[in-house]
Amino acid sequence: MGSSPVTCADAIAAAIAIQGPIPIAHFMAAANRHYYATRDPLGAAGDFTTAPEISQMFGELIGLWLADLWLRAGKPDVYYVELGPGRGTLAADALRAMRSAELFPPVHLVETSPSLREQQQQRCPGATFHDDVDGLPGDRPLLIVANEFFDALPVRQLVRAASGWRERHVTWANPLFVPVASGPPLDDILPDALREAPPGSIIETSPASAAIARRIGHRLATQGGAALIVDYGYEGPAIGDTLQAVRAHEYANPFEEPGERDLTAHVDFATLAEAARAEGALSFGPIGQGEWLERMGIWSRAERLMAGAPERREEIAGAVERLTGTEQMGTLFKTLALAAPSWPQPAGFEA
Ligand code: SAH
Repeated sequence: MGSSPVTCADAIAAAIAIQGPIPIAHFMAAANRHYYATRDPLGAAGDFTTAPEISQMFGELIGLWLADLWLRAGKPDVYYVELGPGRGTLAADALRAMRSAELFPPVHLVETSPSLREQQQQRCPGATFHDDVDGLPGDRPLLIVANEFFDALPVRQLVRAASGWRERHVTWANPLFVPVASGPPLDDILPDALREAPPGSIIETSPASAAIARRIGHRLATQGGAALIVDYGYEGPAIGDTLQAVRAHEYANPFEEPGERDLTAHVDFATLAEAARAEGALSFGPIGQGEWLERMGIWSRAERLMAGAPERREEIAGAVERLTGTEQMGTLFKTLALAAPSWPQPAGFEA
C-alpha cells in the first residue's frame, strides 16, 4: 500500500468529515499534542522564548522561594514537581538554588511530549515522569512549579450568534479550517451579565485548566506544600477571544496548519485560584511577574552575576528588563501562589 504521510491537519479534517464540526477545545488539544510531540519549540531557532530561557535568574529565584518556604515549614521531606518543564532549564536552575539551601528533593515531572522528556532527563538526571498530575506521589508535601503550562491547555469558547449563545466549533472548508457557531443554544448556562453581550462576542473557559488547579489544590490541602503558577493572563471571567498562534516568534492564524504552530490562550488566574481554594488550598496573588521578581531580589542577584562576569553586564541587565519591564513580560505575565493552610505564608505576595 502506498503510504503518504498523514499530517495533523489531515487527521483533524478526517475527524470533521466523519463527525461534523469539532469544538475549539478538541481542535486545540489535537494541534498542541502533535506540536509538542514533534519538536523543541523553544529558543531563537524555535517558535517562542520563555522566561527560564531568557535568564538563569528566573529559575534560581523560584528555587530560593521554594527553599525559603521549606525552611520555614521545618524542612520536611518533599518532592519537587514541575508541570510542562520544556527543556528542563527552570528545573535545573531551581534545583541548583535549592541545593545551596541544602534542599535535595526527588524530582517528578508532568510532561506528555516524548522529545521534551528526553531533554528534561538530561538536565534533571533521575527525574520521574508522569502523564498527568494524578500520577504524582501522595506521601510527601509537594513543591510545584508551572511556567507557561496552563496557556497551552485547551479552551472552550462560547460565541454569541444571531440566534443566541453557541459553542464555537471548527469546521473544514477545503483548504481551510474555519470557526463556526454550532450545537444547541447555551444561553441558560450563562450569567445574566454576560448573556446580553453583542453578537460576535466570545467567552472563553478552560475546563482542563480548572480541573488541574482543583487537583493541585486538593494535593496541597491533603499532603502539604505550595505551588507557583506563572503565565500570561488576566483575572476573569471576561468577554474576549484570546486564542492565538505563534510561529517563528510571530503571531499567526490559529486555524491554519494545526500541529505546526503553538496554540495558546490567556490564563484566567481568578478561575485557577478559585478552583484550588474550593479544594481547601490558600491562594496568593496573582501579582505581576515583574513585581514578584523584584520583591524576590532579582536586582541583587543580577548585581552578583555581573560582579562575577563584568563582560556580561549589559546582557544581564537586558534580561532583567525583559523579565520585569512593564512593556515586556513584567505585567502581562503574572505569578499566583497556592499553599496548604498548614504551611507558612509564601514570600513576595504581601499586600
Ligand atoms: N515551562 C517551560 C515550557 C513551556 S511550553 C518553559 O517555561 O520554558 C509548554 C510545556 O507544557 C511543554 O513542555 C509541553 O510539552 C508541555 N505540555 C503541553 N500540554 C501538556 C499537557 N496536556 N500535559 C503535560 N504537559 C503538557
